[in-house]
Amino acid sequence: MSKEKEYIEKAEENILHTYNRYQIVLDHGKGVRLYDVEGKEYLDFAAGIGVQSLGYGNPEYTEALKTQADKLTHISNLYYSVPMMEAAEKARRASGLEKVFFTNSGTEAIEGALKVARKYSYTKYGPERYEIIAMNHSFHGRSMGALSVTGKEAYRTPFEPLVGGVRFADYNDLESVKAQITDKTCAIILETIQGEGGIYVASEEFLRGVRAICDEHDLLLILDEIQCGMGRTGYMFAWQEYGVEPDVMTVAKALGCGVPVGAFAVGKKAAETSLVPGDHGTTYGGNPLVCAAVSKVLDIYEKEHITEHVQKVGAYLTRKLDDLVDKYDFLAERRGKGMIQGLEVTGRPVGEIVNRALEQGLIIITAGTNVLRFLPPLVITEADVDEMAEKLERSF
Ligand SMILES: *Cc1c(COP(=O)(O)O)cnc(C)c1O
Repeated sequence: MSKEKEYIEKAEENILHTYNRYQIVLDHGKGVRLYDVEGKEYLDFAAGIGVQSLGYGNPEYTEALKTQADKLTHISNLYYSVPMMEAAEKARRASGLEKVFFTNSGTEAIEGALKVARKYSYTKYGPERYEIIAMNHSFHGRSMGALSVTGKEAYRTPFEPLVGGVRFADYNDLESVKAQITDKTCAIILETIQGEGGIYVASEEFLRGVRAICDEHDLLLILDEIQCGMGRTGYMFAWQEYGVEPDVMTVAKALGCGVPVGAFAVGKKAAETSLVPGDHGTTYGGNPLVCAAVSKVLDIYEKEHITEHVQKVGAYLTRKLDDLVDKYDFLAERRGKGMIQGLEVTGRPVGEIVNRALEQGLIIITAGTNVLRFLPPLVITEADVDEMAEKLERSF
């Protein structure tokens, strides 16, 4: 038996089987490439599900982590630290929002955002106004709260009853959102681009319309930017392209480029009238180690003009994927923006294509039931896009 097979058997012996993992054991990475324990090289167009935006082994990032690890990794939120102060200042500047709360994951950022919305409404209108409108085909996480607003029944059903007061509407359908509004509604939550659900981009009309509804009824608009944020669309946050500002935004995935950190950020309204001391907390959240990472990530984004780079190379990726759709009948359409893209596949199982791509040395993932998903590190070049397309065509 190969060393790789042995490792996989050992892992399956001990790890609770909640994932059907691809049959490779990854060992190290460099730039936009990953290497398995047998030394095989892969071009990575998944980036650890949209996390490794700077690729692997960025020397400045790694150095910042090592330095902070030597100094201090954790102190709890009972005290201040310089990395947290710096990370919060930079995150606030990048988002243009008012205040930031650091969490350990995207899911926890969603939990915090939902609590912000409930508390805002409770403070202003009392306990009877608590309903949240979420979208069908959305994904916001696996905890009981985040699952309650996740628009996929198969994920929710075995765990019911979940958090009450959630109503679902159709994404990109303003009338369907309006139909769910009652005198109990307090917030609307949606992804600016639906990721796990199959890469659906919010139309400008929809996002502006939802903002207008929220303003009219004094509802908080929560935009989940966990997958589409942090430069992936060519804007620091996807909503910035629409000129629509959320009241609460959630971020995670690429925020720490590999260390577990998320955040929710609130605008003026929610900063003034919502969580107060005693309402929310976390032991690890925003510790000096992860905040040193966030701080360095935001510095590198600025210094290396990451959003401009995504606009340029993302346009090239878009053209390349459109060419593939023209060329192959089983590719129904391309959806997405910049470096969050999906190809809808008809009449062929997407899992098979992904497995064949792995054989060709290309890492891609799926979304929804029939979509090939592309979330490369944001530092890819046009040559990497060409190589991806060649490898993908060979796996067709
Ligand atoms: C991944 C994801 C989450 C959950 O984040 P975790 O870090 O896995 O908890 C929530 N919302 C969106 C849009 C995501 O892509």
